[in-house]
Amino acid sequence: MGFVVSVEQPSVAVASSDDRFPVRRIYCVGRNYLDHIRETAGADEREPPFFFQKPADAIVASGGAFPYPSQSANTHHEIELVVAIGTGGAQIAPVDALDHVFGYGVGIDMTRRDLQAKAKEMRRPWEPGKAFDHAAPCSAIVPATRIGHPQRGRIWLAVDGEVRQDGDIAQQIWGVPEALSHLSALYELCPGDLMFTGTPAGVGPVVADSHLTGGIDGIAEIEISVI
Ligand code: MN
Repeated sequence: MGFVVSVEQPSVAVASSDDRFPVRRIYCVGRNYLDHIRETAGADEREPPFFFQKPADAIVASGGAFPYPSQSANTHHEIELVVAIGTGGAQIAPVDALDHVFGYGVGIDMTRRDLQAKAKEMRRPWEPGKAFDHAAPCSAIVPATRIGHPQRGRIWLAVDGEVRQDGDIAQQIWGVPEALSHLSALYELCPGDLMFTGTPAGVGPVVADSHLTGGIDGIAEIEISVI
């Protein structure tokens, strides 16, 4: 007795509306662009997609602040297409997957690269590297009813105006239908789920007082201040 618990439902804005998209879970595709695989691990380029999660309350709205995280001296930006699920389902076939999508946004999979590398080396879970507080900056979601289901478009991120990542979502190894199909074989997808879909090459460190801007042409833009 005596505790008063109030927990806010994490959510992101719906573009050009007063609506909010409540966030239930955040899934992320591990490696989904060849040029990023080649710049990091030299991992197998033909493996099926794999997934990890971030907590829903790690969301930071565009225009917000990303506090430089504790226990890291090498925290990286990863700009990513974000898929918002509007209709749930399990064992979804690729041909049906887009029917489950509410809309799209752009997010930054913030990564404590040093802690992730240590976890890989010690064969431990990735949570310290990926699932920390404020680790999921995300733009407003643009409904597919407005923009359709984009399959190409420049995806980019700049630090203090200098472009560091510059790719195209058409370069994804596993497109949205295939990635959602694989994900829904592991977990029942529900309205409110987000899927970050992996990052192109050019990931790198951020420092306090830097300003991150990024976007996907035809979808959305994001800006975050590192404090
Ligand atoms: Mn990522």
